[in-house]
Amino acid sequence: MDANNRSATLSCEFFPPRTEAGVEKLLTAQQTLHATFQPAYYSVTFGAGGTTRDSTLEIVKLLAEKNISVAPHISCIGSSKQQIKDLLEQYITLGVTRLVTLRGDIPDNGESTKELSHANELVSFIRETTGNHFTIEVAAYPEYHPESQSPQSDFEHFKNKVAAGADGAITQYFYNIDAYLHFIDNCQKENITIPVTPGIMPITNFASLTKFSDVCGAEIPRWIRKQLEAYADDKESLQAFGLDVVSTLCNQLLAQGAPGLHFYTLNQASSTNAIWKNLSL
Ligand code: FAD
Repeated sequence: MDANNRSATLSCEFFPPRTEAGVEKLLTAQQTLHATFQPAYYSVTFGAGGTTRDSTLEIVKLLAEKNISVAPHISCIGSSKQQIKDLLEQYITLGVTRLVTLRGDIPDNGESTKELSHANELVSFIRETTGNHFTIEVAAYPEYHPESQSPQSDFEHFKNKVAAGADGAITQYFYNIDAYLHFIDNCQKENITIPVTPGIMPITNFASLTKFSDVCGAEIPRWIRKQLEAYADDKESLQAFGLDVVSTLCNQLLAQGAPGLHFYTLNQASSTNAIWKNLSL
């Protein structure tokens, strides 16, 4: 990895809002982020259900029509092959050239369409149907996927996604840099050369961070958790501490040669912009 990374690819993630006001907020956030550091692209998350699927397409359309570089997330868990094929065609028509390709979270009721069961199968399907049109990003889990049977099998499954044709990977967020460096070591041992971009979650709210981390299997180190807990309702101190922790993590990652950073913005520009201003790029 090259140290003192000056050509880092910085990207931002949005989720499709449920209301018109939410859409306005997202557009304002995009403009603010663009004015600050011109992210290389904006990804838009994907829900397995029909409504959320449609709202991803709507936001992608809105951004693509403004000539904003957009990368829709696409998952296979709740969609038939035909639905995926139709969606890919719509994305090609909109000029989309990058996808974040996932299995998706299993719905709470456990029901899902299972023509394609895992992300590697979706990557293969996209390659079969659209060739090399799309740059394909897949998910990587330095702290392991919560359903994984063992670290080895989880890494084997990651390798399958690369073998199926992934061009890059974006990680689940983490606050422990050693987990990422260990993952990169494993990639190097296996001659996996695709860029693995760390996913960065700003710390702004203790309750929601804990809840989300428990579900997705991201560890909040004890020293961070204890400090956040101690701030309780002192939002200002909590956010200043969170900014310091995450900015330090980002700078360490870039110094260690991470190919870029992918910010989970939660549709807000302020914390991502504040981290960006602290980066020594
Ligand atoms: P996979 O790579 O298929 O892996 C899922 C699990 O199955 C892992 O435990 C893996 O080890 C195991 N596995 C893989 N292949 C096999 C096999 N052949 N046999 C047995 N086990 C296997 N979720 C959404 O719903 N919408 C989004 O927009 C979204 N965006 C995300 C973006 C990023 C960057 C990340 C990191 C995650 C995102 N997620 C999203 C969450 C993701 O969908 C979940 O983590 C999901 O549970 C797994 O998706 P995957 O693509 O990693 O699946």
